[in-house]
Amino acid sequence: MTENEPAIDLPEEDKCAFCDYLAGRRPYTVLWREDRVAVLVTREQRGIAHLLILPTRHVPSLLHLADEDAESVMIAVRDAALTIDRAYERPGIAVWQNNGLAAHQAIAHLHFHVAGTLPGGGTDFGEVPELNVEATDKIAERLAPFVPERSSAHRRVDAAFAGPTASA
Ligand SMILES: [Zn+2]
Repeated sequence: MTENEPAIDLPEEDKCAFCDYLAGRRPYTVLWREDRVAVLVTREQRGIAHLLILPTRHVPSLLHLADEDAESVMIAVRDAALTIDRAYERPGIAVWQNNGLAAHQAIAHLHFHVAGTLPGGGTDFGEVPELNVEATDKIAERLAPFVPERSSAHRRVDAAFAGPTASA
């Protein structure tokens, strides 16, 4: 991507936190993984509940997303919304995605936010507490039974949250 590099200003890319989480170099709650996508429970919960959907390969922004990943990412965004809907039965679910520092992109690895609305409506864009991994694991435990199956993409809920009836 040298000739048609997007004009947006990306955050620093030298150490990608999301790639570290996916590789297990730093602890983070990964609700499910599939061939091209992973779904994480963010430590900054801005809704009930709040998930991050990202390609498993390092893609800096939406403007860099290849066709072969786009369908899987959008299906996972939809299924994250369905999972939240079934587990938490919120009256609304917000989806958002930021590209470039001016749009408040904080990590240069494409991610979609999916979050059930808060009491009173909307999601919280102000200061929210940073939960520890134990707390985000608890959220994953509640969501895991409601994750739609998608065997064609080899979707697998993390065994720690899958419960006793799930098969490996
Ligand atoms: Zn990355």
